[in-house]
Amino acid sequence: MSILSEVLSNVKKRDPYEPEFHQAVEEVFESLEPVAKMHPEWVEAGVFQRIVEPERQIFFRVPWIDDNGKVQVNRGMRVQFNSAIGPYKGGLRFHPSVYPGIIKFLGFEQIFKNSLTGLPMGGGKGGSDFDPKGKSDREVMRFCQSFMLELSRHIGADTDVPAGDIGVGKREIGYMFGMYKKIKNEFTGVLTGKGLNYGGSLVRTQATGYGVCYFMEEALNNIKNKSFNDSIVVVSGSGNVAIYAAEKASQLGGKVVAMSDSKGYIYDSQGINLETMKKIKEVGRKRINEYLKYHPEAVYTEGSSNIWSVKCDIALPCATQNELDENAAKTLIENGCFAVGEGANMPCTPEAVHLFIKKNLVFAPGKASNAGGVATSGLEMSQNSMRYSWTFEEVDSKLKEIMKDIFKNTHETAKKYGFENNLVAGANIAGFVKVASAMYDQGI
Ligand code: GLU
Repeated sequence: MSILSEVLSNVKKRDPYEPEFHQAVEEVFESLEPVAKMHPEWVEAGVFQRIVEPERQIFFRVPWIDDNGKVQVNRGMRVQFNSAIGPYKGGLRFHPSVYPGIIKFLGFEQIFKNSLTGLPMGGGKGGSDFDPKGKSDREVMRFCQSFMLELSRHIGADTDVPAGDIGVGKREIGYMFGMYKKIKNEFTGVLTGKGLNYGGSLVRTQATGYGVCYFMEEALNNIKNKSFNDSIVVVSGSGNVAIYAAEKASQLGGKVVAMSDSKGYIYDSQGINLETMKKIKEVGRKRINEYLKYHPEAVYTEGSSNIWSVKCDIALPCATQNELDENAAKTLIENGCFAVGEGANMPCTPEAVHLFIKKNLVFAPGKASNAGGVATSGLEMSQNSMRYSWTFEEVDSKLKEIMKDIFKNTHETAKKYGFENNLVAGANIAGFVKVASAMYDQGI
């Protein structure tokens, strides 16, 4: 048995009930066989065994009082996965599906994603099974304060810097930042994704979505001699990533005809009106079918995964993990789709990914294509440390450069290791090599 299959089977044995984490490890390890051959010293130093085990996992109780005066208890967690190249960095997810297997898969992905940005950030992730949907602002505030009361003792601007993810946006970051400041009496860049008037960075809100399109534009140009211009685009999701991926895809000349939420999707042959979408989702926090009130000519269909039956040239899955399976991949390919860029983390199942690669689509794996969010978080950290802020244009042009560099690094690494245009392998290897050599240099 090769060292990689041995480590993978140990991961499965040790934590048998964490399928998402197993999937993430398997997807990375599939690409690493040639790396293990080239670096026997890393095998010897146990780098592969060590990298799949979080440096630290923290679980805590989050009690809070709802608007009826009733005590509620949720579970909070933070997985500090790897600090070889910088302080732990990664989002917090508040969603009922959160359990260690999800947070570990996200934390594991984050190690390589952060490495690809070229910035000094380690990998971490956290969250809670708390569901902000349907809660009042005050309930969300009380929850966030209680969450931070406990988390604060484990994080810091040079230790671990959380940010948002699903269910955690500017509102939640604000409440958590306020609490951290009270507890520690310090004003530092301990969280990213902050509001603009208290240390947040311009472009952070748009960064993940914009970054996906910057990456895709580069990949389309280089691999297929194509671009977003005049293309039909489908974007799943309607959160922060999806909205700004759709915005940039349109600015680059594409027409976004469909977007979704967890209940269904909207098809608008005229192109989705993003101002309406922002009003519904960012301001109103409403369901996507509200869109029909403003644009009755659009069509709403129940079942979010049906969105992949909409004919398109470019698909951008920006909702959540495993939202696009093999059947959806087949339908997309039959309908002429030639490129898929992951805006969410691991939105395509392994079978779907294998099919896209086999059929020579441009396929951009999330750890490369959605790295713009955390990269801009890295830029927010830099600005906070300097007590300075850059203009929108400055941050946007840095983001664009970072995404171009990630594409170049990923593409060249794939070629170097004999994987041609397989960006999955390129991203896994390029992300891994930097972290592995740092771990090796720092000893066991
Ligand atoms: N949650 C985002 C991600 O998956 C951003 C993390 C961050 O900015 O730290 O990369």
